[in-house]
Amino acid sequence: MGDAASALREAALILAEVSDSPRLDAELLMAHALQMERSELLLKLPELKALAEFSTLIERRQQSEPIAHIIGKKEFWGLDFQVTPDVLIPRPDSELLIEEAVRIFASAHPYRIVDLGTGSGALLLATLHEFPEAKGLGMDASAAALQIAHNNADALGLADRAKFLLLDWTLRDWTGSLGSGFDLILANPPYVATRARLSADVANFEPHQALFAGEQGLDDYRIIIPALEKLLSPTGTALLEIGFDQANPVSEIAIKSGYHVELKQDLGSNDRLLVLRR
Ligand code: GLN
Repeated sequence: MGDAASALREAALILAEVSDSPRLDAELLMAHALQMERSELLLKLPELKALAEFSTLIERRQQSEPIAHIIGKKEFWGLDFQVTPDVLIPRPDSELLIEEAVRIFASAHPYRIVDLGTGSGALLLATLHEFPEAKGLGMDASAAALQIAHNNADALGLADRAKFLLLDWTLRDWTGSLGSGFDLILANPPYVATRARLSADVANFEPHQALFAGEQGLDDYRIIIPALEKLLSPTGTALLEIGFDQANPVSEIAIKSGYHVELKQDLGSNDRLLVLRR
């Protein structure tokens, strides 16, 4: 292999066929191969040689394997999260939930937080990071996902304030073991319609259990929203991520359950978040 700078240029050209961010992808994979941070790679680029391993990583990306799976991690809210095929890869769009939590609880921090379908633990751990007095509970129906969430809590130094619970909300009385009186409820449930066409990197690599939610993608909201009543404190707030085209149907479910609903858009101006209060 030659110098790193030309290897990067060539890789970016190749990856343009499968990725919207080919140059960034190539940089992240090069940094991974050289076992350095991307910032260090960019600083030292002129003097670096490419490693043979880099081409193997590029080949994997060419097959649409997500960068987060190849390098085993993804940054969310400025924090590093371990990621495997057992968990949904944290999306930048979901940072909107953390942003809103920080805004809503600016003067009175939440004490008790629950994350429904915690996956990698990204939402729960990012909020615990923001609210040092808070304690959090992350539930998920996947034991493999909870192991990753545990690892992330450990790595981020949040293990003493984060608990995790294996729990399936399709079972009866699932809220019983969660407790009640939560100041903040977070949820990024599966919300993709069963027949939706997803890009290959999502459809072929990410856990379908965390993505698909019935014909309209509403199945899990229909379970979660009516159950909030048992979980939410009288003055609490629930932040629900939604698909870009789900503001109306999900608001309707929430209003029927007696909630006041506010809609928020993400950086791409897509409807992304519903804020629910009693
Ligand atoms: N936002 C994800 C996607 O675009 C879906 C996440 C979910 O279903 N919660 O694929």
